[in-house]
Amino acid sequence: MSSPPAGSLPPWLPIREDLAGHTAYGAPQIDVPVQLNTNENPYPPSPALAQAITRAVAAVAGTLNRYPDRDAVALRGDLAAYLGHGLAADQVWAANGSNEIIQQLFQAFGGPGRTALGFEPSYSMHPLIALATGTRWISGARDADFGLEPDHALAAIREHHPDLVFLTSPNNPTGTALAPEVIEAVCGAAPGMVIVDEAYAEFARDPSATALTLLPRCRRLVVTRTMSKAFALAGARVGYLAADPAVPQALLLVRLPYHLSAVTQAVARAVLALASEPLATVAALREQRDDLVAWLRGRGLRVADSDANFVLFGEFGDRHAVWQALLDRGVLIRETGPAGWLRVTAGTPAEMAAFRDALDVVLARGGGPPIAARHRAAASRRGSTPGAGSPGPGETLVPGQPAAEVHR
Ligand code: PMP
Repeated sequence: MSSPPAGSLPPWLPIREDLAGHTAYGAPQIDVPVQLNTNENPYPPSPALAQAITRAVAAVAGTLNRYPDRDAVALRGDLAAYLGHGLAADQVWAANGSNEIIQQLFQAFGGPGRTALGFEPSYSMHPLIALATGTRWISGARDADFGLEPDHALAAIREHHPDLVFLTSPNNPTGTALAPEVIEAVCGAAPGMVIVDEAYAEFARDPSATALTLLPRCRRLVVTRTMSKAFALAGARVGYLAADPAVPQALLLVRLPYHLSAVTQAVARAVLALASEPLATVAALREQRDDLVAWLRGRGLRVADSDANFVLFGEFGDRHAVWQALLDRGVLIRETGPAGWLRVTAGTPAEMAAFRDALDVVLARGGGPPIAARHRAAASRRGSTPGAGSPGPGETLVPGQPAAEVHR
């Protein structure tokens, strides 16, 4: 059963004042043929990988009377080996999705009386976890092209002296990657921790441009990653970070004992042992992404450069109408990001063809000019600048649908 939005909680429930009235994060979970709304990898584990996962689970099944390895040492070693860059197990930490990693970082380095700075539009869980941990969130703005000029970032840091700075690269929902020079400049100026959320790093056009290269030079830098995207393992909930060994040590204070189940650890290790197989999907998805960018631009739409497995496009005067019309044709995308823009995940060639066919119909509906062009014309008549609006709410519920509780 889905829960109603937190805003509709009954008045007798003594929820914290700072949480009251907020709406839970969530994307609609709707069972339609083409699901391109949560940046999942569309390729399920192959039968061989599924068998390896099954064997790994069977191997721990008979030991589940015992708690798991509390420190997930073997898994952290495997993750360090995957990341390379000379990283060792004690520099890596793992948890139930990178959302939990981010929560633990907030718990250890944020909290009441502390401040976190992010540059939006960006991943909407960062401010929500700030809220949940009592950390003050400061919303800095990205540049008009969704990038981040170092001067701009440094000015915000000098103004706010944040305890945590969040940089998402490639950024969700825009797809924009930050140059390592920007991250290094931020590390030089930030008085506290710098968290680079690299959930989509494997999809970058230049995957070598990762903040991992900066770890030896930036002591308070943390790079977060996930197995949900490139490894196609969203259902297993495995996220991780790389940092100075002092960071995992600090997180021991806030993690719950035995937070990562024996089953999760076994599944993650089985997938890492056959990593080349899920990772082979990355090249195909990058290609789908690049084709999608070109196709959307060919339709006269504005499209943000993307280094992720999704594309942000617009601008629409009524993006909800476009989203709904696509859904009516069995294609679910995401209504998120700046006003007027929509986000679509790169899927299989068949899913991309279905998306293109549906969008063509929607754009041409009524035989008139494309909705985007029509609305751009209308916007310029009104004298407004399309796309310059403030970030959208990060979620929009389908009318009549309950708030979903997934965090993606
Ligand atoms: N960071 C970013 C930028 C994301 O987009 C997501 C998921 N959508 C996450 C972190 C969390 O992913 P997970 O908890 O599945 O690792």
